[in-house]
Amino acid sequence: MRVSVRVKRAHIRRFRAVVPALAVSGVLALGGCAPSSHAAPRPTGTASGGPSASGTAAPGSGGPGKSGADRAAAFRRWGVPLLAPPPPPPAVKPVRTGGGVIPVVSRVPTTRKIVFVTFDDGAEKDPRFVAMMRDLKVPFTMFLTDSIIKNDYGFFKPLQALGNPIEDHTLTHPDLRTRTFAQQHTEICGQQARLTHEYGTRPGLFRPPYGAYDSATRAAVKACGGLRAIILWRESMQIKNVAFQDPAKHFHPGDIILAHFRGPSELKGETMTVMVRNMLREIARQGYTVAPLEDYV
Ligand SMILES: [Zn+2]
Repeated sequence: MRVSVRVKRAHIRRFRAVVPALAVSGVLALGGCAPSSHAAPRPTGTASGGPSASGTAAPGSGGPGKSGADRAAAFRRWGVPLLAPPPPPPAVKPVRTGGGVIPVVSRVPTTRKIVFVTFDDGAEKDPRFVAMMRDLKVPFTMFLTDSIIKNDYGFFKPLQALGNPIEDHTLTHPDLRTRTFAQQHTEICGQQARLTHEYGTRPGLFRPPYGAYDSATRAAVKACGGLRAIILWRESMQIKNVAFQDPAKHFHPGDIILAHFRGPSELKGETMTVMVRNMLREIARQGYTVAPLEDYV
C-alpha cells in the first residue's frame, strides 16, 4: 500500500500549503431563500428525476462497503454522471476557527476541485430525496429553521444518519438586520438549543437567512458558544440551472453552493430530486466533486 501512503502524504502537504485566508463574500449570491425565479428552460432527461420505484437500490446497497460498480450503477439510476468519492479530509482544516472573530465563509481555501453542497430551511420533505442521497452518498450540510421543520423533525434524521450534519438557520427565518442583538441571540442560540435537543448533536455552523447579517449577528453567534463560523455561498441552485456569482459561470475550488428543501409548489412543478440531479450534473460537467463542509471549516 505504498502508493496510497504516498498519495495521502502528498494530499496532506497540499492542504498544509494552503494559506488559511478566509474567503469573505462581499456580494450576496442570488437566491438566498428567495423564490426561484432565474431558471431558464433547458432540456431535461427523465421527467421523474430518478429511477422508478422498481429501479430503486436494494436496502444496504449504499453501505460503506459499496463497490465501485455499485456506486456507478447508483449514479446511472439517478441520471447523474459518476462523481468521484470525496477526497480524504485535510489534516488541518483550511478555515481557521476558534479565534476572536467569527469567520464568514463563502469559499473554502483549497486547490482541490471540490465544492460543498448545502440545503436550507427544510420546507420540502420528499422521501425520494432521502432515497436518492442514501443511494448516491453525496455529502451535504443542512441549515434548518425551526418554524419550517417542526411539523416533522423526524424527516431529517435519516439524512443526518447518513453523516450529513444539521446546522443552525434560526428559529423563525427573519432578516436579522432588522432585529436587536437580544432578538438575534434568541433566534440563533434558541435554534442551536432546539436542534441539539431534537437531533442530539450541537450545531457548529450558522447561516443567516437571506445571507443577511450585521455586527450584532457575529456577536450573537459568538455568544451562543459552539458556533464557529458563519456560512454564506458562491452559487445558488435554481430549478434547472446554477446561479453563479462568477460571470463566467464557473465553479472555483472550495465554493459553497446554496440549495433548498423545495418541492413542486416552489419549483414550478418539478421535484427536489430533479433539482438535485440538475445540480450534480453541473458539478460533474465542470469536473468537480462534492466534499463534506465540516471537514474543512
Ligand atoms: Zn433560508
